[in-house]
Amino acid sequence: MFETTLAGSLPKPSWLAAPNVLWAPWTLTGEPLGEAKDDATLLSIRRQEEAGIDIVGDGEQARQHFVHGFLAEISGVDFERKQRIGIRNNRYEADCPTVVAELARRSFVHEREARVARAATARKLKFTLPGPMTLIDTLADAHYGDRVKMAFAFAELLNAEARDLEALGVDVIQFDEPAFNVYMRETVEWGIAALERAAQGLKCETAVHICYGYGIEANIKWKETLGESWRQYADTFPALDRSRIGQVSLECHNSRVPMELIALLRTKTVLVGAIDVASDRVETPAEVAAVLKETTRYVEPERIQASTNCGMAPMTLATAYGKLRALAEGAALARRSM
Ligand code: ZN
Repeated sequence: MFETTLAGSLPKPSWLAAPNVLWAPWTLTGEPLGEAKDDATLLSIRRQEEAGIDIVGDGEQARQHFVHGFLAEISGVDFERKQRIGIRNNRYEADCPTVVAELARRSFVHEREARVARAATARKLKFTLPGPMTLIDTLADAHYGDRVKMAFAFAELLNAEARDLEALGVDVIQFDEPAFNVYMRETVEWGIAALERAAQGLKCETAVHICYGYGIEANIKWKETLGESWRQYADTFPALDRSRIGQVSLECHNSRVPMELIALLRTKTVLVGAIDVASDRVETPAEVAAVLKETTRYVEPERIQASTNCGMAPMTLATAYGKLRALAEGAALARRSM
């Protein structure tokens, strides 16, 4: 009951990348960078263990960005040919690389950090990948001429990557799909099918992280337009509940998502976000426990994991790991009071 985990990213040490920013440039190059990534991955896992996290991750220490980390070893994407396109349904514009040919995976993209992470811990290990819909939303297309076709092409590559991760001993593979909150109709029409294609044949746990996004001004402004109560999940949860994905990760603490919506996830493990990643204030264990207790009104405690609302990459190390400690202590408190 109330196993603890995290959504994905954690801050990087300043000897690896510039601190407190998204898209932080690396401090080193070449093999020294590779070694620093290995060390940061190992250190991150040790700190998660010390904080009391049950299902640990690599903290995404070896990638600059959750989408572009995967694209690094994908051929067919021209990073030099950038097009300014509106992404997340034109919420903001970004200079996006262009798909110019058939997509293919050159090698096992995340092999090195996954091996390091697996060797570093005896605990359950989670590994995150971007979801197909979020991937195509971050790219311009000059080859497929069909967004759905391109998403399924990515889903196949993600599936190959996920199978390699599983073979290496990863226990949970989580796909990050913030686009599911933006394109609600498309999510139900083909987004979940593409996600299932990415997870096809996996015997390990599978998860999807849905998200309203953090960190940038455009996201904060967009959230203001959503009103007092965020009911987007009312459409997607029933469809997700029918899917073969085992776990759903979402934000709860300090968010405007009505908690009762999680009752729509009748068969899934629910990763309840009990840590606010938009604030540097470290939660008290009692606050975390209160969020978890509240969720048990809608979902049996056996199906609940305690998690963070989203990734914590832009925070300071002390804040992020302080929040993980509060998460573990809060989950323990909630367990004792059941
Ligand atoms: Zn998120």
